[in-house]
Amino acid sequence: MPEPNTFFDQGVKFECTQCGLCCTGEAGQVLVNQQEIEQIKRVTGWLSEEFLRDVPDGKSLIERDNGDCIFFEERRCLIHSIKPTQCRTYPFWVRNLRSEAAWQKASEDCEGIGRGKQYSKEEILTILGEEIDRLDAE
Ligand code: SF4
Repeated sequence: MPEPNTFFDQGVKFECTQCGLCCTGEAGQVLVNQQEIEQIKRVTGWLSEEFLRDVPDGKSLIERDNGDCIFFEERRCLIHSIKPTQCRTYPFWVRNLRSEAAWQKASEDCEGIGRGKQYSKEEILTILGEEIDRLDAE
């Protein structure tokens, strides 16, 4: 069956500028699965799980009082090389890709949208698939 047409049939541009906006500010949650938790513990050397909190959908990274992710320091992610799927797949999330208007809206909060690397439709669908698998596993 042919794939349905999407607004990103010709691809879209995105490049993380490391502005940190998606890691800071308003309260939110970064969901992590058990495998990601173990990986974070291994890389950070933290033995306890004090970087986690229980949320209705599972476990989330905690935030500082100002809403910044606990792993965001000096304008960078301390666990960049192993960052959770939710972070790695941003901004190619279902809610941002459901329409061109949603993508435009997402660009208001993400200055990387519209610049840098051109992602093909196939690449976008692969990343989206990872994000959908993550959501299904919740
Ligand atoms: S884990 Fe890293 S990329 Fe994800 S929100 Fe925290 S600082 Fe940002």
